[in-house]
Amino acid sequence: MVRDQLVARGLRDPRVLAAMGRVPRHAFVPEAQRSLAYEDTPLPIGYGQTISQPFIVALMTLAVDPRPGDRVLEIGTGSGYQAAVLSGLVAEVYSVEIVEPLARRAEADLRRLGYANVRVRAGDGHLGWPEAAPFDAILVTCAPDQVPRPLVDQLKVGGRMIIPVGPAWGAQDLILLRRTPAGLERQSILPVRFVPMVKGTGKP
Ligand code: SAH
Repeated sequence: MVRDQLVARGLRDPRVLAAMGRVPRHAFVPEAQRSLAYEDTPLPIGYGQTISQPFIVALMTLAVDPRPGDRVLEIGTGSGYQAAVLSGLVAEVYSVEIVEPLARRAEADLRRLGYANVRVRAGDGHLGWPEAAPFDAILVTCAPDQVPRPLVDQLKVGGRMIIPVGPAWGAQDLILLRRTPAGLERQSILPVRFVPMVKGTGKP
C-alpha cells in the first residue's frame, strides 16, 4: 500500500510513510471489508460513512506538516484510522464525530489497539473542541460548504488546517489554510469528494 499507492504518487515524507505503514488499516474496517483493507479505495464503515482512501489520508496528514509536540484536532472520526495515523506523529489528537455509535466504536478500537494519546468525543465538529484549543493543526474529513469560523479561531498562529470545502455530494476543493500573524493564507490542493459535514444540533 505504501509503495504502490503513496510513494508511486510522489509522497515522500519518511515520517508520514512510516506512520502509514505502522497502522493496521484492516483493524479499522468492518469484517466484511477486511480483504479490501489495503486497496486503493475508500470503504464503507456503516451509518452511511466511509474510511478515506489511503492516499487521501496520507496527503492530508502531510499537508498539515505534523510535528512531534503538536496538539491536533480532527473533525470526523469515522473509523478512527486517520486519528491512529496522526497518533504516531504528534503529541495529542482530539477527534470529534457526530454519529455517536461511530464515535464510541472508534474510541473503543483506538483504546484496544493502544493509541493512548487520542481522545474522541461525540458532538458537532462545527464547534471544534474549545477546551483543548488552540491547535497546531486541524484536519477536517467531512465537507462543509464553508470553513466553520470556530475552527479558524481554534487554530494557533502558525497553525495549519486541511479541509474539503464545497456542496454536499458535489465538487469540493481540498484547501490548506495557514494562520499567520497577518491573517489566513489559502492554498487549493486537489478536487475531492467527501461526505458532507452535517449540521448538528448546535450542542457539543
Ligand atoms: N477520518 C475518518 C473518515 C471519516 S468520514 C476515518 O479515518 O475513518 C467523515 C466522518 O465525518 C463521518 O464519520 C461523519 O459521520 C462525520 N461527520 C459529518 N458531519 C460531522 C460533523 N458536523 N461533526 C463531526 N463529524 C461529522
